[in-house]
Amino acid sequence: MIKISAYAKINLTLDVTGKLPNGYHELRSVMQQTDLHDDVIIDEGSDKRIILEVMSESEKNSDNVAGALCHDMVPTDGRNIAYRAAEKILDAAKQCGKPCGNVKISLVKRIPAAAGMAGGSTDAAAVLTGINRFYELGFTEEKLCEIGVTLGADVPFCIKGGTALCEGIGEKMTALPSPKGIPVLIAKPAIAVSTAEAYSLLDEADAEGKLVHPDTDGLVSLLKAGGADGTISATKISGYLGNGFYQVIGNLHPEIRDLCNEMTERGAAGSLMSGSGPSVFGLFEDKSLADKVRKEMEVKYPGVFFYSGYLI
Ligand code: ATP
Repeated sequence: MIKISAYAKINLTLDVTGKLPNGYHELRSVMQQTDLHDDVIIDEGSDKRIILEVMSESEKNSDNVAGALCHDMVPTDGRNIAYRAAEKILDAAKQCGKPCGNVKISLVKRIPAAAGMAGGSTDAAAVLTGINRFYELGFTEEKLCEIGVTLGADVPFCIKGGTALCEGIGEKMTALPSPKGIPVLIAKPAIAVSTAEAYSLLDEADAEGKLVHPDTDGLVSLLKAGGADGTISATKISGYLGNGFYQVIGNLHPEIRDLCNEMTERGAAGSLMSGSGPSVFGLFEDKSLADKVRKEMEVKYPGVFFYSGYLI
């Protein structure tokens, strides 16, 4: 049995820079992992090639936040990206003459689903890494990323982890020094954001010249200059936070803006929505303040899922 932590990501910047001939949007984003994670347990299976079970961590899955976690939407069959990841790596192993036995995957979900935190992609990444280790397949990280990108553009980032500039549809990655250790507060309201609608609103705003583009290059320079020794403050990073989707989705769902504003009013150095939402995050200088704000906001917003932890 092997247990892998599958970490959630946030977008410190997220910019849509163009459209490809196939209709996909081109992105530029500094993606950052946080210590909020699912557990992915890989074990020998029994009669079926792949068995997948999904559990929601009971402590966090209180009645209050069950609606925000959306774990009831997570499938246990081939619709689950973690299941498809297992199929792909077992196929690749077979092709290389390294057939493995049957696999049992247990997912302990903590990351809210459909939140803009790559919950599914990170589970898929952990399945690829986990099966590779469990069956000692010897696939390199590059090979795992090659398999991963066929499942989703964010999967290679989730395999490599840390901090990266992601371009193209998200799959072209440049690793960056991580500002790890910065305290983060995450909030996920019980709102469903349609990704298709988010892109169409963003296109509209862009066509009208209303879209503000974040300074991704500025953040990349700051991270490179600061190194991985913890010298970059939450305040410095917060000067560069920006996400085009926040402009349009924040207008559509005022609760998203309220959560961001409230985090900053209560002492976050900066706050923003992640991905196309609806989760938001605040960066703090001080973990005890992030914890205090989490406790206060949990009381004020009973249907919202909150988590305080660190960037990793
Ligand atoms: P991203 O930030 O990459 O857009 P997300 O956080 O918005 O991801 P996911 O949590 O990956 O979205 O969930 C999107 C949908 O995928 C859900 O509605 C769910 O039904 C489905 N899904 C499939 N596999 C998983 C999984 N392992 N965990 C969560 N959702 C999954």
